[in-house]
Amino acid sequence: MKKYTLNLSMEELEKRTHKDYLITKKFLKADAPEYLALAEGDKEALKYLVRAANILEKINMQLDNEDNLPFKEFLEEEIKNGNKQAELTKILFDAQKGINAIDSMSQPIYLAKEVPGRAGKGVYPSDLTKEEFHKILTKMLLDGKSDDVRKILTQRSVVERRGEELVGIDYIDKFKDDFSRMADELEKASEVSTNTDFNEYLKLQAKALRVADPLLDAYADKKWATLQDTPLEFTITRENYADEMTGTVIETPELKALLDENKINPIPKDFLGGRVGIVNKQGTEALMAIKKYLPTLAKNMPYNNEYEQNIKPDEDTKQTMVDVDMVQASGDVGEYRGGITLAENLPNDDKLSLTIGGGRRNVYHRQIRFISDMKKLQERLDETLDKEQHKYYLDEADHWFTIGHENAHSLGPRKGNEKLGKYRNIIEENKADMGSLAFVDLLTKLGMYTEEQRKQIIVTTIADNFLKSKPTLSQAHRVRTVMQNKYFADRGGYEIIDGKIHVNIDKVVPIAKKMLAEIVRIQIDGDFKKAEKYVMDNFVWTDNMELIAQKLQKINKTLNGRLETELADKLS
Ligand SMILES: [Zn+2]
Repeated sequence: MKKYTLNLSMEELEKRTHKDYLITKKFLKADAPEYLALAEGDKEALKYLVRAANILEKINMQLDNEDNLPFKEFLEEEIKNGNKQAELTKILFDAQKGINAIDSMSQPIYLAKEVPGRAGKGVYPSDLTKEEFHKILTKMLLDGKSDDVRKILTQRSVVERRGEELVGIDYIDKFKDDFSRMADELEKASEVSTNTDFNEYLKLQAKALRVADPLLDAYADKKWATLQDTPLEFTITRENYADEMTGTVIETPELKALLDENKINPIPKDFLGGRVGIVNKQGTEALMAIKKYLPTLAKNMPYNNEYEQNIKPDEDTKQTMVDVDMVQASGDVGEYRGGITLAENLPNDDKLSLTIGGGRRNVYHRQIRFISDMKKLQERLDETLDKEQHKYYLDEADHWFTIGHENAHSLGPRKGNEKLGKYRNIIEENKADMGSLAFVDLLTKLGMYTEEQRKQIIVTTIADNFLKSKPTLSQAHRVRTVMQNKYFADRGGYEIIDGKIHVNIDKVVPIAKKMLAEIVRIQIDGDFKKAEKYVMDNFVWTDNMELIAQKLQKINKTLNGRLETELADKLS
């Protein structure tokens, strides 16, 4: 067995595992009414789906870091021998679902001294540097091995050394046994669940787990994206925010020219998650309010005559949306690394299903958005927001903003993002945020929001743009928040008066429209240098941001969090 040296001291571990610092998000309990109300067949299906998600967690741990599984084994052995430090380390390991993570103060949390963080995560050889990576690919392309390079630069391969070269192995081939065990569970679920469409999706998904063929995934994704009225929710989430290696290939001019010549689009590697839940009917109805406006929003996107959109103004909107009571979030979607996502709109633009007529589906995570401590929220408002504007701060408004954000991912240019390299995700997230905010006035005029709700969305969003600490450049979701904050500050969207945020409500939407137009321009142009300049110009941590950050740190001590999944644990 591989040995490791634990990196965090007892003092540090005791602090980080204390409930003030490590919050708990509670998923459905074993006796939850939502579960008890399910038909018998769906209850049984849920059990198989949880098992499938748990298998996926094991696979994703290996994609995330090759030391994850050996380290876990080491910790378990040490705990058996009474090692208290290992016991506390394991709590953090389970919370962040891996050996390395980042906390909500943007500090790296590495659990073993021997295992530093690295750009290529577990999907590239651990000793491969960016420079060597580019050199090998350049040589392979000059040698005419473009098909091999294509396999290395897809979103679904693990890259390994083969002599002097590299080879890309499809995920399905790399983890054959585990993926077929997962397929078995999905097929069992499809035999007992009560919903025909859902069962059809499960069968298609199972097929795609047995044979390495992106087209099989596309068929499964296409079916999945149509699911609207099903009792259960199951998703294999595939997102590529964590890979900091693949996107770099466009930074070496000779290699970039060769890739263009061979028509190879480098796409960062997917990290995989398993989401299991029960669809909440009431919450879902509330979400659907936005659907009929999507074609109008598509028509109002900046420069919309220059690109094709997923949502077409004159067609049926291929966009489903569900609000879900969470049972399990395994792998990538359940890793608590500074936070957990409130919702996802999948498949992302790099997926094949969108090219064969497939749509997209939004899934909102109810238990993640619930606020556990209203007292702390009030304390935060007292310290940071103009008292006159407290009446416009509403946690529900954050949910409405998220709905706008997820749907904005479906608007705008579909292609060209990969040309933006490491800035693609920052730019895309920025687009989604500004898309959400830019349309608030229009949606108010159309009757979706009341005037009161309009103010609540604007004030809540601007207040929430203030972070607890300056993020690192690799945190796409947070970098764009700082960029927006700077952009609004420069244009009078808010002011800091006596140490508190005062939002200039009527200025916000016009500023958001301006930023949205600039961002969409960058996506259309697909110019790396322009994207870099835009991010650098706006990713500026100001004195005011630091002032508010200091206050937030005092009120909210949270450094990370974990999931409590009582129902899932019982079912598996
Ligand atoms: Zn997003």
